[in-house]
Amino acid sequence: MIQPLNDTRNVIARAEKALTAGAITINQFVSLIEQAGIDLNKVAPEIDKASAVYARQFYNKRHLKDRYDYIVVGSGSSGAVVARRLAEDPDKQVLLLEAGGADDLPQILDPSVWYTNVGSTQDWNYATDPSPVVNGRSVLLTMGKAVGGGSSINASYWVQGKPSDFNFWAKQANDSRWGWDHVLGIYQRIEDYQGPFDPAFRGKGGLVWIEQPQNPNPLAEAIVRGAATQGIPSFNDNNGIMNHRPQGASLVNVRIKDGVRRNIPADYLYPILDQPNITLLTGAEVLRLTFSGKRATGVTLIWRNQPQTIYSDREVILSSGALNTPKLLQLSGIGEAASLQALGIDVVENLPGVGQHLQDHPVVAGCVWEHYENIPPRNNICEATFFAKSAPELEEADLQPFLAEIPYATEENARLAPLPQYGWSLGPGLNRTKSTGSVTLRSSDPRAAPRIDIPFLKHPDDLNALIRGVEICRAIGNSLPLKPFAKREVLPGPLKGKELEAFVRNGTITYRHEAGTARMGRDALSVVDAELNVYGVEGLRVADASIMPRITNGNPMAPCVIIGERLGEILNPVKQTK
Ligand SMILES: Cc1cc2nc3c(=O)[nH]c(=O)nc-3n(C[C@H](O)[C@H](O)[C@H](O)COP(=O)(O)OP(=O)(O)OC[C@H]3O[C@@H](n4cnc5c(N)ncnc54)[C@H](O)[C@@H]3O)c2cc1C
Repeated sequence: MIQPLNDTRNVIARAEKALTAGAITINQFVSLIEQAGIDLNKVAPEIDKASAVYARQFYNKRHLKDRYDYIVVGSGSSGAVVARRLAEDPDKQVLLLEAGGADDLPQILDPSVWYTNVGSTQDWNYATDPSPVVNGRSVLLTMGKAVGGGSSINASYWVQGKPSDFNFWAKQANDSRWGWDHVLGIYQRIEDYQGPFDPAFRGKGGLVWIEQPQNPNPLAEAIVRGAATQGIPSFNDNNGIMNHRPQGASLVNVRIKDGVRRNIPADYLYPILDQPNITLLTGAEVLRLTFSGKRATGVTLIWRNQPQTIYSDREVILSSGALNTPKLLQLSGIGEAASLQALGIDVVENLPGVGQHLQDHPVVAGCVWEHYENIPPRNNICEATFFAKSAPELEEADLQPFLAEIPYATEENARLAPLPQYGWSLGPGLNRTKSTGSVTLRSSDPRAAPRIDIPFLKHPDDLNALIRGVEICRAIGNSLPLKPFAKREVLPGPLKGKELEAFVRNGTITYRHEAGTARMGRDALSVVDAELNVYGVEGLRVADASIMPRITNGNPMAPCVIIGERLGEILNPVKQTK
């Protein structure tokens, strides 16, 4: 059960993060702890650590240099890992730049209200152009804007990704270190999994805290049993043997500890922010990269309302996410030459693949049931998921619907039936899509949102798979194990043919899994090589969801951590602590 945000651990976590971010002083920090009635003696080691981090970052910011060895742009699921691994070498000076603010907000720390960040100042608030495939709607493509990026506002799922995903990446990159055997070794090294432990698939004692939902809602357990009525077998771990089976249902793995979200920086960055060789700037928005010929030399950014340029003696690493990384590359002259020239941007390298091949997982919002009573929030309020095949002949699941312990639907679909006061939803999500979109510049103004061509529903197979997803969700939601939780089905009801198609088109939103816009590979549209170097230039790499040659069959935060870890292995091969 989620603890209210005033319990001991939450107070300390919030105060620590505020201190780290420079939002409060040490005296204010101590007062906050005292006001909450916490015994200072008992939490002295945590206070010492937080004070050291605060003092170090305060000093580093006061003495900001104009050159660092490495500049990492973006502190999200990949960037936080890259910065950590680089800074483990005391001889490397690392600057980590984050456009968003601190991650100490209650709506970030409380994992049960993650969805309230959508459309807020913690979201870049980018949207697709209106498209006929979703009946003329424009779809909001949420991306985290805060320390931690997506890992600060997401639903906390930890999903390793299928072996077939990474083996595909390895083939595209022509490098077996992107393949499952190597990637599994990384998971075994970094995970600290608290659930039923099988060393063949999981790690324990590593940096990354992962647990099963604590005291899960019985509704979530009923969804797993409901899936079994449709031939989808139940498992006790979302990432164990189930990951190697064609279909499966389980409670999820979450990045939550003591009721508090663990974003990726909580495990990777915070422990080393008291070191002299790493500086984290928040509210530091990079506008473009600087070049000398074909060599990236640094970044131009706005920090504290001042434009400035900071140089990299060794490399710039873009970890700005799958929408902003291609945007920054194009603003800096790397992209399809003719379209950059049309905007008056000097071309550094003609790389037509930049911004192309945008992939994402579409979800239909949503299939909704009325409950008999209020559902108090627990954990991430999305405690069960299942992998299902939309057609029997498929080798592995292409669908990944999930439970949301709230009723939700798009405005258009909610017009079919008003949402109930108490209710829950199943969101049919499609992981194996055949549609792609793109991210291109509207103008050379770095502050302008990019043009996003929708990556959903262009291929007829995607529509058919989502329709089947709705049917499977309805069968599960209306099955016997769900009867105690389902007073009635609200949406969609027994729609067929064109009406069901309209429900899918009107309901399709994003799972918020944007990827693939600077993909790794060896063909003409690839942007980075197997070591994540941007083709045609020097001193510049990309490490984030952009590089995925194909989006993984599952939620992508854990694979983004793997991308960060792989770059860590490449740039800092000597020291790899747990
Ligand atoms: C609402 C939501 C729910 C999700 N749920 C899940 C889930 O439960 N499980 C899961 O596995 N995945 C989930 N995801 C997806 C997952 O969080 C992302 O795939 C992942 O975080 C992407 O990692 P990344 O490193 O590519 O980019 P991000 O994590 O997005 O990090 C990019 C960072 O770069 C910063 N940045 C961007 N541009 C600039 C700039 N110009 N200057 C400086 N900084 C910049 C951003 O502010 C951000 O902090 C969810 C995402 C969202 C938004």
